[in-house]
Amino acid sequence: MSFQNPVFIPGPTNMPERIRTACDMPTIDHRSPTFGRILHPCLENVRKILKSDNAHIFIFPSTGTGGWETALTNTLSPGDKVLAARNGMFSHRWIDMCQRHQLDVDIVETPWGAGLPAERYAEILAADTAHEIKVVLATHNETATGVKSDIAAVRRALDDAGHPALLFVDGVSSIASMDFRFDEWGVDIAVTGSQKGFMLPAGLAIVGFSDKAKAASETATLPRTFFDIKDMAGGYAANAFPYTPPVGLMRGLKLATDLLLEEGLENVFARHHRIAEGVRRAVDAWGLELCAQSADVQSDTVSAIKTPEGFDATDIVTRAAETYGVAFGVGLGEVAGKVFRIGHLGSLTDVMALSGLATAEMCMVDLGLDIKLGSGVAAAQEYYRTNPAQSALPVD
Ligand SMILES: *Cc1c(COP(=O)(O)O)cnc(C)c1O
Repeated sequence: MSFQNPVFIPGPTNMPERIRTACDMPTIDHRSPTFGRILHPCLENVRKILKSDNAHIFIFPSTGTGGWETALTNTLSPGDKVLAARNGMFSHRWIDMCQRHQLDVDIVETPWGAGLPAERYAEILAADTAHEIKVVLATHNETATGVKSDIAAVRRALDDAGHPALLFVDGVSSIASMDFRFDEWGVDIAVTGSQKGFMLPAGLAIVGFSDKAKAASETATLPRTFFDIKDMAGGYAANAFPYTPPVGLMRGLKLATDLLLEEGLENVFARHHRIAEGVRRAVDAWGLELCAQSADVQSDTVSAIKTPEGFDATDIVTRAAETYGVAFGVGLGEVAGKVFRIGHLGSLTDVMALSGLATAEMCMVDLGLDIKLGSGVAAAQEYYRTNPAQSALPVD
């Protein structure tokens, strides 16, 4: 790896210098109004980024995985029924976590490359007239396959069935990069982390609860201590955490969310879409295909690119790291060796994206794939050139 090159993994993402230095601060009293001046704006800003007026925001020293655990343990009891689809490594891991917590998961096996099967959800929910299903899980953006799903359609499936189950959405690789509508989609819990769209180091689980999800915590009996939202809310009321907060990371989060809101959420989403579209043009010019089955499920934060049969896609990632000092993502689980991933979220420009595409081309040619140097880069250049950025470049 080289510190001079950006990373093209789908998290942790590149850190703007200002955000990185914001995390570096002297020790302060973490139970003081000074900490409150960092904490409360973070909660407020995250709520805005979720597009919610009233969500209860909780930030734990953890990662996205801890956010999943926060969602489950605060709202459910052993044996409770959960509906989930498995269409990639991250939805798989959340299901696995449910099972390890003695939850009864109704799993809809879904092709890796397809989006969430909202129609299957609708049928299952309509058939569950006894309302045994307590929670529906939805991975908004499957980072393993580069597939986004239609959360509004999942909400419609619940509403059409008149089903009261809670809707939990994993937005770890979408929130702060792709459009996310907590209130409009009737999301009950949204989960994310600090190291993807928020451009920070790993270390924070960031979670939003609806009133209904918060109310469920009054009767849920799964054990919870570190991730107890009631303890956390009690801490916030006193400008503190129930334990020692990662103050520097929180200061970084305050700046990162200020910058995102200053840029404007719609501009942030448009920027991610443009960069992603250039990457997709390049993939097409290489004569390769995305793991995402159709255009409507293509993610704007990560592209999983299929390599020809008999070729180990992981070799591209190894070659890039060892020869060029550049990081791409490997395929995970069912698509290990079959895809390599280009992460294009967080702090990224056209020029950075072009450098990643150029590197991927060199690696593929080095490894004997029939790809013409410059072909993908040219396709992306043409797209970026003719579709200039709508918003001013961030100063960083
Ligand atoms: C990265 C990621 C996670 C896991 O987050 P960690 O911060 O690594 O615990 C969960 N879900 C999705 C969709 C992710 O991209």
